[in-house]
Amino acid sequence: MENRLLSDIGRTGTKVIMNGRIVTENNVIDDGVIIVRGDRIKALGCRYGINVPAGAEIIDAKGNLVCPGFIDIHCHGGGGFLFKDNADAALKAHLRHGTTSVLATLSYHMTDNEYIETFQKLEKVIKTDYGKQCIGVNMEGPYLNPRYGADTSKVRAIKAEDYERVYEAGRKLIRIWTFAPELDGAKDFAAFLKSKNIIQSAGHSEADHETVNEFIKNGLRLGCHLMNAMGFPPPFVFKGAIREVGIAEALLWDDDTYVEVIPDSKGVHVRPLMLKLILKLKGVNRVVAISDAFLAGALKDLEYIKDEKGLEYVPDEGDLYYNGLNQLCGSRLSMDYAIRNMMNHTGIGFVDAFKIGALNAAALLGMDDEIGSIREGKKANIIIADEKMNVKNVILEGRRVQLSGL
Ligand SMILES: [Zn+2]
Repeated sequence: MENRLLSDIGRTGTKVIMNGRIVTENNVIDDGVIIVRGDRIKALGCRYGINVPAGAEIIDAKGNLVCPGFIDIHCHGGGGFLFKDNADAALKAHLRHGTTSVLATLSYHMTDNEYIETFQKLEKVIKTDYGKQCIGVNMEGPYLNPRYGADTSKVRAIKAEDYERVYEAGRKLIRIWTFAPELDGAKDFAAFLKSKNIIQSAGHSEADHETVNEFIKNGLRLGCHLMNAMGFPPPFVFKGAIREVGIAEALLWDDDTYVEVIPDSKGVHVRPLMLKLILKLKGVNRVVAISDAFLAGALKDLEYIKDEKGLEYVPDEGDLYYNGLNQLCGSRLSMDYAIRNMMNHTGIGFVDAFKIGALNAAALLGMDDEIGSIREGKKANIIIADEKMNVKNVILEGRRVQLSGL
């Protein structure tokens, strides 16, 4: 197995990407050249300003965009599998669509023992060639408000002995942990996360804006899929007479917190006007597109799949995903589609699109010196794609991925 994977992935060595439109953090360099040495971007610029080393492997971008690989911080699976069941398959499915860094996201449908078993499996997968793509775990729950989310039968009360046990097993992997701030014990839990350098994320919640502001002061940094699974605390005062404010507005108001959005093609998760409003309020540096893909994400063949219970399911609703209870449950997106939709819905250009698709996520994770943009010295996680985000080539840490082998 391991040998086959190794032969699927190109050799390291100096590579030169030519004839591309390079999307950097600030601009697009037409007729650009990138020199890749080992796993790093060695140099980049316009064709006439770069010395191309003799004997290097040339990659012709054929006039396409040359962009940073996507970073997906909220992704439960893809290619027919959840990360908990087959991380290797899920990683490859998203790699095919240009995602070069992903946080394996474990949902609130899992037991603590399932979390712990998944950490063990992921630690093995990360050591493989393609496993480099997995840069950690995002815990979505289980300490969430049961009124918000798809099939919340397994969300549970916050107990220190539970989260300490899960943390101990996943301490090398856990980067983000989402919880509902209104739950009993949330303050202590947030303090625990802060002490462990885990990014605090609020979601599946109806916390009032004062509560959210308190958590922001104490280190809350992220809103989990803004506009999805969020509500207002009861009782509604003057129902029908005023529009209440709550967690979503608190996150929109704060300048520093990041917010995730799921940009599906039909604007079901977040209406196109709401995406524009979010961009206007948060600015282009604080919005992070995610796939929130479940097992049906990034599939090659979209005709039908079977869910965990073996129920056949026809994904005919664009890129939405419904669970066996017919509830909206994540999506079938991969990041290429998410970013294409984001551009279609909001009119942003390529530079902003790749902030939302890569750089902002890297900054949130404190990894923007390593990944998230095309810059000298960063890891050579690069994709070549056309203007509609159809991915043609993927380079993972300086190695060309044979997409047909995935
Ligand atoms: Zn999710």
